Amino acid sequence: MTPPHADRSRIRDTLLDGHSFLLTSHARPDGDSLGSQLALAGALQQLGKQVRIINSDLAPAFFAFLPDVSTIEIAASVEDPFDAVVVLECSTLNRTGVAGLEGRLLINIDHHAGNAMYGTVNWHDVSACACAEMVFELIEALGARLTPAIATHLYVAILTGTGSFRHANITARTFEICRRVAETGVDAAGVAAQIYDNGSLGRVRMTGILLDQMTLEHDQRIAVLELSDAMLTDAGCDQDDLEGIVNLPLAARQVRAVIFLKKTDTCLRVSLRSKDPIDVRQVAVSFGGGGHPNAAGFTVENQTPETRDQVIARVAAMITDSGT
Ligand code: 5GP
Ligand code: MN
Repeated sequence: MTPPHADRSRIRDTLLDGHSFLLTSHARPDGDSLGSQLALAGALQQLGKQVRIINSDLAPAFFAFLPDVSTIEIAASVEDPFDAVVVLECSTLNRTGVAGLEGRLLINIDHHAGNAMYGTVNWHDVSACACAEMVFELIEALGARLTPAIATHLYVAILTGTGSFRHANITARTFEICRRVAETGVDAAGVAAQIYDNGSLGRVRMTGILLDQMTLEHDQRIAVLELSDAMLTDAGCDQDDLEGIVNLPLAARQVRAVIFLKKTDTCLRVSLRSKDPIDVRQVAVSFGGGGHPNAAGFTVENQTPETRDQVIARVAAMITDSGT
């Protein structure tokens, strides 16, 4: 196996040699995917490169304050030529939801366990707390300057990607990047207020409804939240308003894992969260999804009346395995 810095050097050289780049990331983008793409785009533009960012889904409304977020194009497929495509935060190419990427020079940069190594060049570092940590190192390797806009993108990615500095893999490197970010004048409290104190009233109401209807399974160690489209409509909210609610039951001492079931007309979206050392990523993978050991998800297209119990049973098995 090549050391990570060798992969990073190859990526740096590819980016310095080329001229036109496409950046993309996963469907239903989050703070880490948006911030990582926008930070890298800013650095490449500074070096005189042509950059386009194409995603399959719009950024959630609460990221509207991000500098340059309006430059992100939304498309289901890409036909134009590029010297290389940088895929950030995706364990498989399918995660982009963008067609037309196969067969191109692909640069795969990811920190999720279980990356399929689908790139022409792959840089995979599961020790990074967020993909933005890798992007910061790449920006340094490229010799680009950390502008306030780039720093803001990196900070948003790290703040949200670490669950507000609470997840595993937060290290001295994480805080060193934040120190560098702060030096550019980024207002950390202002960024946090934009993300966490700027939601809709519907979101607050929905939080109450979901927690009120929460059920407990497996000797109160698993909390189950369930949502239907009708509940969303009644509360006057959309999917974006649900961000972060899945974590709330973990505040109870006895709750070890949370299962959030979101039913739509066509499918069932499942978000899983857990406390260390319970690995819910394995549960997500067993249903065709992925993620991190303590935050993972998947989609079931053909749900049956048994699906709910199957998910609970697999999460319960992981709790038993962990010995906690
Ligand atoms: P969330 O529950 O917030 O949608 O996702 C939690 C984590 O799991 C994120 O890191 C996300 O990228 C990952 N994840 C969610 N759904 C899927 C999926 O269907 N496939 C894969 N590979 N990862 C997913
Ligand atoms: Mn991530």
